[in-house]
Amino acid sequence: MSDHGIVWFRRDLRLHDNPAWAAATNGHDQVTAVLVIETELLHGAGPFRRQAFLNAAQELDRQLAGIGGRLRVEYGDPATMVPLVASDTDASAIYVNGDVTRWSARRDTAVDAALPSPMHVSWGTLVHPPGSILTKAGNLSKVFTPFWKQWSSRQPRAASEAASAQIATATGSGLPTSSAHSMPVTEQLDRLLEDLASYPESRDLPAIAGTSRLSTALRFGTISPVHLVELIGTDHPGASAFVRQLAWRDWYAHTTAKNLEIDRKALRPGFDRISWATGAEADRDFDCWTQGMTGYPIVDAGMRELRATGWMHNRVRMVAASFLVKDLLIDWRRGERYFRHWLSDGDIPQNAGNWQWVAGTGPDAAPYFRIFNPLTQSRRFDPSGTYIRQWVPELSALSDTSIHEPWSVPPLERAAAGVWIGETYPAPIIDHAFARERTLLAYQSALAADIEPNHDQAP
Ligand SMILES: Cc1cc2nc3c(=O)[nH]c(=O)nc-3n(C[C@H](O)[C@H](O)[C@H](O)COP(=O)(O)OP(=O)(O)OC[C@H]3O[C@@H](n4cnc5c(N)ncnc54)[C@H](O)[C@@H]3O)c2cc1C
Repeated sequence: MSDHGIVWFRRDLRLHDNPAWAAATNGHDQVTAVLVIETELLHGAGPFRRQAFLNAAQELDRQLAGIGGRLRVEYGDPATMVPLVASDTDASAIYVNGDVTRWSARRDTAVDAALPSPMHVSWGTLVHPPGSILTKAGNLSKVFTPFWKQWSSRQPRAASEAASAQIATATGSGLPTSSAHSMPVTEQLDRLLEDLASYPESRDLPAIAGTSRLSTALRFGTISPVHLVELIGTDHPGASAFVRQLAWRDWYAHTTAKNLEIDRKALRPGFDRISWATGAEADRDFDCWTQGMTGYPIVDAGMRELRATGWMHNRVRMVAASFLVKDLLIDWRRGERYFRHWLSDGDIPQNAGNWQWVAGTGPDAAPYFRIFNPLTQSRRFDPSGTYIRQWVPELSALSDTSIHEPWSVPPLERAAAGVWIGETYPAPIIDHAFARERTLLAYQSALAADIEPNHDQAP
């Protein structure tokens, strides 16, 4: 045991099974818990992510108060504030959980450079750390299945145990006040455990609460992914289907660690030659998409759910993203930025990774020529139109079969349901069959030159 240690919390806002916290409390008599808020980043985040972050920080502060300490909150550039807290407390070591993005790499390099010795890095935000799941040749797998096989056969690190150090009570500048509350993670977990058996079937149906809704808790680290894997196990299909999703999450994080430009550049460089739609018409289409006014009910329902709640069901994220890229031929990066702003779980690795999957430009993506048909998706995954009715109420009087494609419904039936195309609900902004052909041509021309994947190149 020796002196004073600091834990700098970032996206690991919990005490339970937090390896950085465990290392500091085991190695030091006194520990300071610090959070550095970069005001610009806080303001730049969308309202739901900002709120989720503040809720998570307040909960961490409560956990610290429960063991006699407080969260020290500082505002400013971490490269200035972290060394300042270190010299203030005369700390001999700083502990963090690692992060994988371009931005965090730059930040951590700057902080390390301003400290007398580098920070101690653990990996409490992923099940397996980046670089630990590699092919025999020592590369990150280009496809998910071999990654998953190796990932699932490997034991995650043991859950970390904190020791009872003296926790500093310095409060720094304090957290901004916030009144909104979210569902406690324990309740979400209980619900997940109850419904796990039906997860493989229900996870694709947006009308029911068939998924865990833990993505925001994972985003801010209020729950440990290793703890989740331990708790869920893999001894029945529901459990292993769920844990597989956590492997996707790790995979996109590992991919990001090797491709720091994942939100800027197609992972298969040839796809950066696609001629995306630009100009006033594309801007108008983009606005219709963001407002949930494309005339395709399943897309509009998803986009309205996003703006109203900061969350969107995974199946609908795929359909809405595909519509932007493959029907409107709008650059996936524009949609990625928009989603990241509005999602409470918005996160570069997961968001850009999934956008590249949908656009067909990413690792193990759907082949670009397999284009989602929004009507087929709607009928298959929202067969009774329940999800559409919730978010596009102006269509709610249409029958279960008609609600997916209101423009094709006979005018008398539409009138009886109070639906007037172009007045109460828009006509489709694009014809899917036409859009499909246009997209195939655009992708094919981009591919005319070489499209060698570059997943395993260092950034
Ligand atoms: C276009 C698009 C953008 C996305 N953007 C994000 C994002 O910014 N942040 C984010 O966390 N997820 C993102 N996802 C993945 C997925 O949609 C969400 O993680 C999921 O909907 C969250 O709901 P849940 O927690 O109920 O999921 P569950 O089905 O309960 O899954 C459990 C956990 O597994 C992980 N997971 C599930 N699906 C995926 C996936 N496809 N890729 C990676 N991890 C997954 C999540 O951490 C999730 O919380 C995106 C998907 C698409 C298609």
